[in-house]
Amino acid sequence: MSINQKENGNTAKNDITIEYTCQFVVNMSDSSLANIHKAYSELQPQILTDFTQKILVGFGESTMAQNQKSFQCDQCGNDKSFIWKTRHGKETKILMVFQWVKLKQLQVQCKKCGHKINITRKLLGVEPMKRIPSETHRKLGLIGALAPYRVAEKIVSLFGWPLSKMTIWKSVQKTAKEIEFKVDSNELAEGEADGTGIGIKGIAKRGKELKVFVQYKKSGGVRIAGLDIGNYNGGWKKLFQNSVEVMKGFKKFLLITDGDTSILDGLKGKVKILVQRCLWHIPHQAKFVLWRDGVKHKSSEWLHVMSELLEVCAIRPYVDCQKTIEKMIENKKKRLEVIIKDCTEKGYRHTAAYIENAKPDLFTAIENRLTGKTTSKVERVMRTVNMRVNVGKWSTSGALNVTKVRLAYYYNDFDA
Ligand SMILES: [Zn+2]
Repeated sequence: MSINQKENGNTAKNDITIEYTCQFVVNMSDSSLANIHKAYSELQPQILTDFTQKILVGFGESTMAQNQKSFQCDQCGNDKSFIWKTRHGKETKILMVFQWVKLKQLQVQCKKCGHKINITRKLLGVEPMKRIPSETHRKLGLIGALAPYRVAEKIVSLFGWPLSKMTIWKSVQKTAKEIEFKVDSNELAEGEADGTGIGIKGIAKRGKELKVFVQYKKSGGVRIAGLDIGNYNGGWKKLFQNSVEVMKGFKKFLLITDGDTSILDGLKGKVKILVQRCLWHIPHQAKFVLWRDGVKHKSSEWLHVMSELLEVCAIRPYVDCQKTIEKMIENKKKRLEVIIKDCTEKGYRHTAAYIENAKPDLFTAIENRLTGKTTSKVERVMRTVNMRVNVGKWSTSGALNVTKVRLAYYYNDFDA
């Protein structure tokens, strides 16, 4: 092995050239691919360790030769005068891609205060003390979020990286800590919030709910703006807490939900929210248009239109007979036509226009449910969650963390 440090006009001041040669002696019985892989897997750890060490010493010497170093003294802040203590000191263990690597510490001493500093991790750009640098745990964390832990363990071992499921699990938890979801002020002021039941250890099936808040993107897709696990009733506050400040910047935010009003508790009084609750919303809005049409509140005409609308908009969600639902919708549509005709004849211009306008979308949700389609974008997100989380039982934080990484990868451009 040799190292050449060139001062070349074309390369940046801190660039160095490393020439790495190695000699490897191996005894082989045949040249089958399997045998070559086996031999390579013995060679690889040696190369990775030597290669890394070589590069570290190269950069250590390069920075030591400069007036201003690439590191500074932790004690006094000096970044100019140091002397070498050792280039091959005590071993320190780091999980690199492919395997644990034992590196010899590079140590220098501050000439100002006498403090000794290990510069290995500073040169690597990894956190002090950490055995699994974020560069590595993000990769493992992503694999662990995409596949069950057992599968992730198998996959990495197939490529010569023998790690325990626990190491992969830990990497998921660490990676999740680095991910934070909130509304993006550059995307649309529109989104959806919904929950899905998940299995948590020690709690009866579907005892806890994973709550997801997605924001619509200008490009047409969605991004994750909030994620939490909580009880079925309420507990929506944390879902929005990171986003409240950003949402205040929007004039208003259109939030589509399935009608659980407790979803809004976390936002009340802080953000102007327009909730689109299919059907649920209609009678409310009708009060406003009736007022515009000058129909006296609670007069017999007012009561007639309102009560008809309420009937039409009331859906019994637990009717599971398809024929019955179809017939119900057909009846409701006829009834709606009568209301529109009635309002038109009486000159309730705004009311008639409003109902006419809402008509095409009024039963979309229930009709789609019949044909197995769904218009909800958050529904798709939930399927992405369930494909991973439905494998096994989880702790609350375990399920939340694996979902965080998974959704960040699928929807928020997170990558390792
Ligand atoms: Zn110092």
